[in-house]
Amino acid sequence: MSFEGKVVVVTGASRGIGREIALAFARKGATVACVATSEAGASGSVQAIEAEAGKAKAYACDVSDSTAVDALFNRIQADLGTPAVLVNNAGINRDTLLMRMKDDDWDRVIDVNLKGSFNCIRAVTRGMMKARYGRIVNISSVVGQTGAAGQANYAASKAGLFGLTMSVAKELGSRGITCNAVAPGFIETDMTETLPAEMRESVIKTAPAGRLGLPGDIAPAVVFLASEEAGYITGQTLTVDGGLTL
Ligand code: NAD
Repeated sequence: MSFEGKVVVVTGASRGIGREIALAFARKGATVACVATSEAGASGSVQAIEAEAGKAKAYACDVSDSTAVDALFNRIQADLGTPAVLVNNAGINRDTLLMRMKDDDWDRVIDVNLKGSFNCIRAVTRGMMKARYGRIVNISSVVGQTGAAGQANYAASKAGLFGLTMSVAKELGSRGITCNAVAPGFIETDMTETLPAEMRESVIKTAPAGRLGLPGDIAPAVVFLASEEAGYITGQTLTVDGGLTL
């Protein structure tokens, strides 16, 4: 499974799961466009990739801003060439009970997680259609499959990604483009750092794997779905949760 000569775009690549995904593609020979909200964050991942003699370039962009996303993909095209792979990993949560959820809590989470993925897919597909090749992987969540108290906005955004994934798969399949989702369970990153200790304990007890997930558990699933070899898999969700939702 080589990505030599391929341009891979990873959003939310400054830390956590996104950084691990970016590193995994670089280790397989890809040139990785690391996208994050801040230039400094994206540059940190580029330095980590370059320290392993990999190829990467940093880009700052808010994926919820469609004008900025169009400009981002024009820059990537000019700097690196046509992307073969897009990984929509950028995501946020603003957890609170429904009755306390502000309009802005709802809007912002949907805008980043769901609209951000749509913005990037729309911007990347012109080049992929011309090349008659593309791999798109959307990072959803098991919460999009099960729901979660206190996460109505987040769960709705992640469930929305399944509909987006299947629609893109149907619309672009004849052009050599696949679109799949990965649904991680509980993964140890900055995003989950503040969750209560009881929740962590419960995951460890419930999941057959008997432990929390790590970013390194997610990256190989993404790399596989983005590989040439996975060309006959499209519109699917690969759950990577240590069996938590069984
Ligand atoms: P994280 O908070 O550590 O990292 C999030 C990344 O997204 C950062 O690089 C940040 O800069 C970027 N980002 C946030 N808003 C952005 C925006 N508007 N534009 C561009 N980039 C933006 O989170 P993580 O735990 O590594 O999560 C990565 C993805 O995996 C998210 O989509 C998250 O919802 C999903 N996920 C995480 C878990 C988990 O347990 N950690 C579980 C299921 C799904």
